[in-house]
Amino acid sequence: MLKTEERKFSSEIIRDSYKMVIDGNPVDAESGDFIKVFNPATGEQIAEVPKAGNTDVDLAVKAARNAFENGKWKRYPAGKRARVLNDIAAIMRSRFKELVELEVLNTGKSISAAQGQVNQAIQDFEFYAGAIVGHRGVVNNMPGAFFNYTQKEPIGVAAQIIPWNYPLMMAAWKIAPAIATGCSVILKPASLTPLTAIILTEICHEAGVPDGVVNVVTGPGAKIGTYLTEHEDVNKVAFTGETVTGKDIMARASSTLKRVTLELGGKSPNFIFPDADIEAAANGSVYGIFDNTGQSCEARSRLFIHEKIYDEFLEKFLEKTNKLVLGDPFSKETHVGAVISQSQLDTIHAYVEEAVKDGAKVVTGGKAAKVEGFENGYWYEPTIITDVTNDMKIAQEEIFGPVVVVMKFSDEKEAIQLGNDTIYGLAAAIWASDQGLIKRVLDGLQAGIIMVNTPFSAMPGTPFGGYKQSGFGRELSIETLDLYTETKSVLSYAGSKPLNPFNL
Ligand code: NAD
Repeated sequence: MLKTEERKFSSEIIRDSYKMVIDGNPVDAESGDFIKVFNPATGEQIAEVPKAGNTDVDLAVKAARNAFENGKWKRYPAGKRARVLNDIAAIMRSRFKELVELEVLNTGKSISAAQGQVNQAIQDFEFYAGAIVGHRGVVNNMPGAFFNYTQKEPIGVAAQIIPWNYPLMMAAWKIAPAIATGCSVILKPASLTPLTAIILTEICHEAGVPDGVVNVVTGPGAKIGTYLTEHEDVNKVAFTGETVTGKDIMARASSTLKRVTLELGGKSPNFIFPDADIEAAANGSVYGIFDNTGQSCEARSRLFIHEKIYDEFLEKFLEKTNKLVLGDPFSKETHVGAVISQSQLDTIHAYVEEAVKDGAKVVTGGKAAKVEGFENGYWYEPTIITDVTNDMKIAQEEIFGPVVVVMKFSDEKEAIQLGNDTIYGLAAAIWASDQGLIKRVLDGLQAGIIMVNTPFSAMPGTPFGGYKQSGFGRELSIETLDLYTETKSVLSYAGSKPLNPFNL
């Protein structure tokens, strides 16, 4: 095995071919097969990554298990692991431009979106470097001479399966808390967007994470994702992705009673009350749905406008939406980048067509966009749909594209009722001034994340996760550390008289 200093991970911005990282080594799949990786903005192939099979997964799990049982990582004092996490962040910062460019090339997202996400990925490592030092058990009051305390111990080997919409950020959300606690991980990125996750794994090694602690395998979720989920030697699966996939993962993980964290889909409501700062609410609502081309789990895809300001607000919302620039993802002027794939583009359009058939009205957008210089890429116009009722398919199902449905409400009670009338419960936004009203509405909403007068849903430290079928477990926060640790409860006795409960 190569020593860290001898290891040669290339650091050009884009390579023709990438390797997985297993036990600290760059490796191809045992089969020698590859998956093609594309730039969605142009439709061009940009690279290839190994197409792992079950044998490769076995190797990764073995490496992770060995690192966990016999390695030094979990035995380091928390402060020493924290130093390595800070070093990972420092290397990411020094390679910021490269990470951003690679993310843009592999996702077609706008450079400003990618910059924000790479920044957050870096801050995640810094956050957990700080948080792990303060992570601790408790002492519980016990009667008499009994003494009870708890200690937090890493769960073991974690499989971490992530989606394509925030490739680097999701990898950071997963890896940082897991390794902070001393766990070993096998990360499986989405096949469409594996590049920055591979680079992050390389950076972890460069920063001093021992071999086998962070492994990355690339391959089809339906094959190696399911295999990882069922693997006897994996203790935990942390998944971000679609709700249907999450259900499958939970069922499979039950055969070995793995610990499970699920960050799933959403159909988040965005409420505009008459006393809101209308300008800020319109700006925030446009960002809330169209940032990241609408491909966000917490996208505010149902816009509810109070009937008193419906026409005025809709007009402003439309006017601002029509100003959005679709164009070269590397241009600072671009607001909205490409959609991830042709198949996603087709899915989005099918939703819009069906809504129109059901009687909804497209106010703007509603078709694939033509972007000069990017004719072979996958682009969709920012789309606003009115004349919708909350029971229509377009208002109930997650589209995962730049499409928002607009509806009216008349009072806070109706707002809460409509907001909750969905299988999801990830996020909700409230634009209003009256603090009493805001509190009553947020108390009534079944959602894990509430945004009050802000378009931003997450920053390191904010617990992120859903109610209902949006999943369970919270990431990005201190409590995430509990999801990668077991609690060992120690009861001891220090009385002067020895205990003899059977009176023997
Ligand atoms: P997806 O469920 O299709 O795939 C996610 C990952 O799971 C990929 O790596 C995929 O290869 C793998 N996978 C697919 N089938 C699998 C199976 N049966 N077993 C194990 N792994 C499997 O999701 P996607 O299309 O990549 O991402 C979009 C979804 O992610 C949306 O629903 C979005 O809301 C959700 N998401 C949620 C959050 C959150 O924090 N709640 C954040 C980002 C994205």
